[in-house]
Amino acid sequence: MTPSDGPTAGTAEAIQRPGAEPEAADAPHVSIIMVANRPDVDPCDVLCDALPALSCGDLSLSERAWIDRHTATCRYCANELECYDHLCQTLDQVYPAGDIGPCPTPRFLPTKPAAWYVVVESPVGPLFVATTDDALVEIEFSKGRGEDELRRHLLERGFAPRPLAEGQDGPNDSSRRVIDRVRSQLREYFGGQRDNFDLPLDLSGLPPFTRDVLEATVNVPFGRLDTYRGIATRIGKPAATRAVGNALNRNPIPVVVPCHRIIRSDGTAGGYGGGLDIKFRLLALEGVTLAGLSG
Ligand SMILES: [Zn+2]
Repeated sequence: MTPSDGPTAGTAEAIQRPGAEPEAADAPHVSIIMVANRPDVDPCDVLCDALPALSCGDLSLSERAWIDRHTATCRYCANELECYDHLCQTLDQVYPAGDIGPCPTPRFLPTKPAAWYVVVESPVGPLFVATTDDALVEIEFSKGRGEDELRRHLLERGFAPRPLAEGQDGPNDSSRRVIDRVRSQLREYFGGQRDNFDLPLDLSGLPPFTRDVLEATVNVPFGRLDTYRGIATRIGKPAATRAVGNALNRNPIPVVVPCHRIIRSDGTAGGYGGGLDIKFRLLALEGVTLAGLSG
């Protein structure tokens, strides 16, 4: 088993996180730009970790400029930064430094694109399926997570979650067409009648690294396997095996973006965001059996 390979669910290796150095309390300040440029690191993780330091004024001018440049092109981090700023402003209003003064003007958040979601039955349990008017944005396994988790993910990505009741038509023809297409292709896939999804996918609001990983993963064909290392190599970051595993663990569109086909270099299954039993069931449905695969 290679130590830098993808994550496993609930094992000691997953908890030890090889490669992460323990932080000494008196460690000298390491520039977040240097950390973000390391080949095994997702810069968006670094940026989000640095938000408290940013709001406390602990970052250098060059670090603040790096954050500006990154958030100019990364909608995911721009969203995180906006939420953090909003939280800080709210706290400032709750704990004012001086006189309370006039009531603050109510803030109206900018309109977010709606993501309509429905529940689709499947052999691996009910699936929450969310689409915009144009494309599929999220699939969430209901097992142990479900609707709250789906709504949180959609909000994080900048969408407004909108439930559609059973049997209720979509709000317009376009969204209805997308939902129907997803529903019927999932039914065909689980029924063994489809080995290739033909659906428009929306990966907006995700970190660029995650998008690269998902775009590489979507090309792994039905019934075939690739490795975390293989995906890392394909996106030009061969050392980022563990970051690839983490990104796939948070795959917003499982089944359709087939992260279940990605395993460790030693042939073991690795992890799966929806639970390993579902990974095994999806692989079995595609006729894949691995040595040492057990469910
Ligand atoms: Zn980012």
